[in-house]
Amino acid sequence: MDFRLTDEQLQVEAMVGGLSRKEFAPRAALVDEESRYPAENHRMLAELGLLGMLYPSAYGGSEAGPVAYAIALREVAGGCASTGVGMAVTNMTGEAIYRFGSEPQRKRYLPMLSGGKGAGAFALTEPGAGSDAGGLSTFAREDGDGFVLDGSKVFITNGSHACVTIVMALTQKSPRKISAFLLEPGTTGFSVGKQERKMGLKGSDTVSLCLEECRVSQASMLGAPGEGLKIALSALDGGRIGIASQAIGIARSALSAATEYAKDRRQFGQAIGEFQAIQWKLADAATELDAAQMLVFRAACLKEKGAPYSKEASMAKLFATEAGNRACHAAVQVFGGYGYIREYPVERHLRDVRVTTIYEGTSEIQRLVISRALCR
Ligand SMILES: Cc1cc2nc3c(=O)[nH]c(=O)nc-3n(C[C@H](O)[C@H](O)[C@H](O)COP(=O)(O)OP(=O)(O)OC[C@H]3O[C@@H](n4cnc5c(N)ncnc54)[C@H](O)[C@@H]3O)c2cc1C
Repeated sequence: MDFRLTDEQLQVEAMVGGLSRKEFAPRAALVDEESRYPAENHRMLAELGLLGMLYPSAYGGSEAGPVAYAIALREVAGGCASTGVGMAVTNMTGEAIYRFGSEPQRKRYLPMLSGGKGAGAFALTEPGAGSDAGGLSTFAREDGDGFVLDGSKVFITNGSHACVTIVMALTQKSPRKISAFLLEPGTTGFSVGKQERKMGLKGSDTVSLCLEECRVSQASMLGAPGEGLKIALSALDGGRIGIASQAIGIARSALSAATEYAKDRRQFGQAIGEFQAIQWKLADAATELDAAQMLVFRAACLKEKGAPYSKEASMAKLFATEAGNRACHAAVQVFGGYGYIREYPVERHLRDVRVTTIYEGTSEIQRLVISRALCR
């Protein structure tokens, strides 16, 4: 077993880590304060080939592979978690179009996504269908040579900045068949609704989408009729490696801030880092984040080799996001009262990391996926 990263992966780590520390981290507090979508960060990601990391250069991608992608996402999220989730969903959208799309769909959308013409969005969740994604009710009725979509989606990341959105809809009610469609902004009957006000990730775009008599051509279907849930679940498998990496990136930043603070802050005549109670918090967080990283690398390596990795991706997401939450919680505690105020970054890290145990499948749903694989 070789734990070393390749030269290319080390280069990605150094390049993206440098960009994130220099450009994203210094602006992250203001992005959070103003709840502002950092479009300039999205452009920089595009310039460095970080928005199409999972498909070939023939379509504008950089095909860096799942391991390099996990590293890049961790580094971006460590600087600005909102930028990280935007990057994650754009890469996930592009990969799904590459894997399941027709040649004209690939040629149209993949260069746009990797070139930063717009973000990618993935619209599965509805007001009445979250964890039970298969229970969605958006309906795509066949009409002439196309479909007419009606329904609504909620909590859609990048929804108002997307150049293409993958929308899941029922194409048959009994037996239920779900299909995937590629929608462009400006399509009649397709509109962006409410922008959510959130606890964290305040710079990320989270909106509802409305579909009212929205007519699309047959050519806008992604994959075969009835293949939508398969496309969604396979995209989420890969997406979970990304969210695990996002959580590790955020939590590493919190741990690093807490470690520095523990060395500087003095109470009872000594640095608080000399108290065993503080040392153990730092040690536990560092150990758990390294274990989480190993789970992420295992899942990403399996994916890179083309081996099944669904259970391993769920394990990585479950452990990394829960460990990330514990680490950010501990970091606030190490900072004491200062951890609770905005002057220091750890309260933001705690707010940002919170959602990672929820989106792209809650921790409870990851446990379902894992236990189903065990009992199969
Ligand atoms: C900031 C943000 C961004 C998001 N981005 C996107 C996006 O881009 N695209 C998209 O489609 N969706 C997105 N989502 C939606 C997200 O994936 C869902 O919120 C998530 O899947 C949970 O669904 P829900 O909120 O409806 O919760 P529910 O499914 O109602 O769950 C509520 C609680 O019940 C538990 N629960 C539900 N079913 C079970 C079960 N079988 N066993 C045990 N416990 C269970 C859950 O774990 C949870 O604790 C986003 C959400 C947020 C907050």
